[in-house]
Amino acid sequence: MNADKLDDIKRSANVYGCVECGRCVAACPMVDMYVNFSIEMSPRGVIKKALMGDDLVRDGNIWYCTECNAGTDVCPQGVSCRDLIRGLRQIAVEEDVSTNFNYCASCHNPFVPLPAETFVRKRLKSEPENVLDVLNLCPACRRENYMMRNA
Ligand code: SF4
Ligand code: SF4
Repeated sequence: MNADKLDDIKRSANVYGCVECGRCVAACPMVDMYVNFSIEMSPRGVIKKALMGDDLVRDGNIWYCTECNAGTDVCPQGVSCRDLIRGLRQIAVEEDVSTNFNYCASCHNPFVPLPAETFVRKRLKSEPENVLDVLNLCPACRRENYMMRNA
């Protein structure tokens, strides 16, 4: 694993500034999304493991986050749970050590974490097929698709 890249991600997410106040956990939507929610997948849990030098790139808990940024918004120290988890996922994809994500049906870039996708599909299960098809696209392709349809 590229240790320098991992350290850059931790530094730019400012994980070393964490004072363990727990505000990010209180703001994180995952507690309401997943029946198996645990401190292990919470922003504070992931940050703690990052500080302890755990192998988070191979940790399945990094794939539940929605990248909503809510924990970052309330953090008094400017720690970004979203940027940390996004960076860890990028390394996991680059190093091909996870199967917890889907590829965009259009551009074929890896884009969506499977636990979050499963949650959204369950919530939208009564929607028509063409609405659910949109979930097969990454955000960039969804935007392009929308703009082409509405041009
Ligand atoms: S809100 Fe910020 S300082 Fe508090 S536990 Fe979360 S990351 Fe650490
Ligand atoms: S970015 Fe991820 S970890 Fe942070 S609050 Fe949102 S869902 Fe939770």
